[in-house]
Amino acid sequence: MKALVLHGPDDFSIEEVPTPRPVGDEVLCRVKAVAICGTDPKIVAGKFPGMWPPSFPAIIGHEWAGEIVAVSDDVKASAKVATKYAVGTRVAGEAHKGCGICLNCMTGHYTVCLNYGDNASGHRHYGFTSQGAYAEYIVSSIKSVTPLPEGLAYAEAAMLDSAGVALHGVQRGRVATGDSVLVTGPGAVGQFSFQYSRASGARMVVMIGRGPRLAFAEKMGAIGVDYEKVDDPVARVLELTDGVGVDCTVECAGTQQAIDWAIKATRKGGRLVMNGLPTSTIEVPWGPMTLAELDILGVRANPNTAGPALALMANGAVTTEGIHTHTFPLSEFGEALATFVERRDGAMKVVLEP
Ligand SMILES: [Zn+2]
Ligand SMILES: [Zn+2]
Repeated sequence: MKALVLHGPDDFSIEEVPTPRPVGDEVLCRVKAVAICGTDPKIVAGKFPGMWPPSFPAIIGHEWAGEIVAVSDDVKASAKVATKYAVGTRVAGEAHKGCGICLNCMTGHYTVCLNYGDNASGHRHYGFTSQGAYAEYIVSSIKSVTPLPEGLAYAEAAMLDSAGVALHGVQRGRVATGDSVLVTGPGAVGQFSFQYSRASGARMVVMIGRGPRLAFAEKMGAIGVDYEKVDDPVARVLELTDGVGVDCTVECAGTQQAIDWAIKATRKGGRLVMNGLPTSTIEVPWGPMTLAELDILGVRANPNTAGPALALMANGAVTTEGIHTHTFPLSEFGEALATFVERRDGAMKVVLEP
């Protein structure tokens, strides 16, 4: 098969490599669409030495959808399983597959598997510590593929990673009917966080951001607060919430400024979901946060959200339109990566078709 092979930092090419074979609980899938994740350019640039990938050569990419083309003997063994994951089934992939035996996996928290990175335990992190989807084919555990609802295109289903992370964050934040929500950072995860909050019954969703991405969120129905145009974005959020702040903030920027706004704009006793990945140098005002009794909720990836995330896309409650902006053949990975990183022509999510 053809695959994008990484040989070292910023050193990649399309090459012919052996097609993997499904064993155990795995199926072989023909990758039809794979989206570039915000983490991918950092992996390509070698920002996680020895971790992602653990060694070279490596095939990364984890936001994919495709079709099952072969199944292992184990998958065939159960008629029920074989029917659900039959050859020809259209599926979307998930990056994390837990070991299945640690406390966290046993209680459903497999994205924080205690055996992370230990492939011998059964753990997989496709596109990070195991072969990924920038290739014609990928083998995946059936635990990490979800059959697509009818009518959902592969390119839409490839948004599952961003969408599922957003939905997981909204669920972590216990967004309920009638809640007021603030989203900071109108990138793909921010846009989906707004849409899943609305689908969860939020009475209003305020988005802090700027430029065309904020304008897009406003067009979709969010209340935009442009931090380049207003003196104090927090004051504006307080104004919109009778001076008390929002019930839940979903922070999707990961910057010092956004985190400061997020803390100040959340009401006392509210929830603050950390969906942007802050760097270790960010300073947090622990005192005010403690006295406000904020619930701070970490988010890692998209556990147990694939089914509902895809269903809400399929029924129209959530749309990838305007979020998926560009499509390239896998052979033009370099061009696609530059388009994504430089946000050329308003690029938000860029999809490759192997
Ligand atoms: Zn991703
Ligand atoms: Zn585990």
